[in-house]
Amino acid sequence: MTPTPKHLKEHNAHATTVTIGNVVIGHPNQPIVIAGPCAVESYEQMKAVGETLVEAGIPLIRGGAFKPRTSPYAFQGLGEEGLKHLARMRDELGLGVVTEVMAIEQIALMLPYVDCFQVGARNMQNFDLLKALGKQPKAVLLKRGLAATLDEFLNAAEYILAGGNTQVILCERGIRSFDSATRNVLDLAGVAYLKQRTHLPVIVDPSHATGVRDLIVPTSRAAIAVGADGLIVEAHPKPEQSVSDAAQALPLEALAPLMHQIHIMADALAACRKPMPAKVTPIHTHAQWA
Ligand code: PEP
Ligand code: MN
Repeated sequence: MTPTPKHLKEHNAHATTVTIGNVVIGHPNQPIVIAGPCAVESYEQMKAVGETLVEAGIPLIRGGAFKPRTSPYAFQGLGEEGLKHLARMRDELGLGVVTEVMAIEQIALMLPYVDCFQVGARNMQNFDLLKALGKQPKAVLLKRGLAATLDEFLNAAEYILAGGNTQVILCERGIRSFDSATRNVLDLAGVAYLKQRTHLPVIVDPSHATGVRDLIVPTSRAAIAVGADGLIVEAHPKPEQSVSDAAQALPLEALAPLMHQIHIMADALAACRKPMPAKVTPIHTHAQWA
């Protein structure tokens, strides 16, 4: 008989929290933000980003050292040198490190440098990679595939859980559609669905979902409103000079205002989740305004 899938609420009625470094994701009304460039480009770039994150109250830094690029001729990432720049942000600034793993052979190399392995959209169904990540101790941020159904997404998460690793975060990052105005289509209903059906934390990547810098703040607000446990956002000291995904990188000065709005949205959602107050008699009746 097939066991009850471990990702379902039926398996675990309590919300799972996931720890990245010393940061916990999945507490109600306490969304966590991960931010940083698409790709690690240099130590100086990461230091500028890291210092801004600390000032803005963002505890986790991202940046790809191994980059899954559409063209084999595009920048493929700095590899281990990039991992070292990330790890210096942990040592020098106390930030937790989130970065993408593309192959099983990279796991052992990456383990000392990272606090959370990101599985990119293009690898969501790389089942051997998922199985290997299920057997190591660090958190996994699993991104939804480019055209994956929610059921396929949850089954991919199940591969990691089945190996014994409970520390899985689901990430909605937009799916392919006929509409080319935005890079992808952000499935916010999918976020609500995942929150209702599973006990795993769910975060949203508004950068890859929209591909448009100016759409990141509004979609981030919406993600929190629908119940996401956090966000992963691309940000760069000089967005227009970013070696990859330049159009969707926020400038660093946009991060503190983003956090301000995220806190407002989280407070509003906390208020929405409280029971409605007993009905109060309105001071003005409709007739008085007529
Ligand atoms: C990324 O986070 O830089 C990335 C490549 O994302 P995705 O796998 O969602 O395309
Ligand atoms: Mn990117």
